[in-house]
Amino acid sequence: MLIVQKYGGTSVGSLERIENVAKRVAKARKEGNDLVVVVSAMSGETNKLIEYAKHFSKTPSKREMDMLLSSGERVTASLLAIALHEMGVDAVALTGRQAGIRTDNTHTYARIESIDTTAIRRELEQGKVVIVAGFQGINEHGEVTTLGRGGSDLSAVALAGALHADACEIYSDVDGVYTTDPRIEPKAKKLDYISYDEMLELSSLGAKVLQNRSVELAKKMGVKIIAKSSFSDGPGTIIAEEDEEMMEEVVVSGIALDKNQARVSLRDVADRPGIAAEIFNRLAEEEINVDMIIQNASREGTTNLGFTVPQSELERAKKAIAGFDHEFGSADYDENVCKVSIVGVGMKSHSGIAAKAFTAMAQSNINIEMISTSEIKVSMIIDEKYGELAVRVLHETYELDK
Ligand code: ASP
Ligand code: MG
Repeated sequence: MLIVQKYGGTSVGSLERIENVAKRVAKARKEGNDLVVVVSAMSGETNKLIEYAKHFSKTPSKREMDMLLSSGERVTASLLAIALHEMGVDAVALTGRQAGIRTDNTHTYARIESIDTTAIRRELEQGKVVIVAGFQGINEHGEVTTLGRGGSDLSAVALAGALHADACEIYSDVDGVYTTDPRIEPKAKKLDYISYDEMLELSSLGAKVLQNRSVELAKKMGVKIIAKSSFSDGPGTIIAEEDEEMMEEVVVSGIALDKNQARVSLRDVADRPGIAAEIFNRLAEEEINVDMIIQNASREGTTNLGFTVPQSELERAKKAIAGFDHEFGSADYDENVCKVSIVGVGMKSHSGIAAKAFTAMAQSNINIEMISTSEIKVSMIIDEKYGELAVRVLHETYELDK
């Protein structure tokens, strides 16, 4: 088997942990597998390098930031190779460039465009474990680029896709994806399996496990991911295309809580063609991420328009909207809201799932301010102080602890 393994920052967070990773790699190698191992920088290292740059400049050159930040992953890659040599395992560490990873020119947030796997294949053929510094590549001018925070996941998925690997194992300090945040609901259970789409919707649960962009890429390339802990030996969670057999009985897979939400309500908005386009184009120009949008049926020529934005963007949203104040009666803002979502592909084929959630909220006396649904998700905006309670109530309602 050809296996791509990726070890995150905490998994390689100290010399002892790198040694531990080396032992895992050596074991998988002795079992006869060909291995490509992608590593992150040691935990805290990337942040430390960013701080260093900030010491000199508030707006450091992005090109230089890529030179700087890509060094963290190189340190881990070469240390792991050295540790493996000591264990008698032949290994070679490669930078993103040496591994053939070509990206576009967007410094600090580059997109992988292609991977030339010739060098990796050559090393594999010589029986070596190939270690790749994650999070980086080069652009067409030969400049180092990085892939955005958490980008080593992306390196691993892209390599697994390009090499047609048999497995893509992503190791972190958690043993998989849970039905909800175990700090909120201790009865949360680890999922054996979750589809790409559910994972993307549950990103507030999975963010610690997998970078969102890497899940999107995995979906696009059909790379099956196994999220595991490098500190234990459990089977982890498989993230793959939805599979009818596996998911037939599961209607709801998980509950997510997003506290970073603020609500904007515009009352008595002039009801004329183009008004929504103008308002939301303005918000888009200001790079404000609008999430939920609700507009009522109009009455007597006016309507109410509500939407949510990330809390940190509320002030900017207020400013953007101020330019339209002749178009609406009054505006009302609430920072103390949160979004609870139930997610599951099984919803597609079951009815009454949303109603069950609303009933559960009613029985707990939680008022729902806004609702939005998609094929596989029901989201509710509620008072922030009931966020955790709502998660527990819903977890129980859909029997996710069973
Ligand atoms: N070291 C980079 C970061 O901290 C990339 C990664 O760890 O995936 O964001
Ligand atoms: Mg990570």
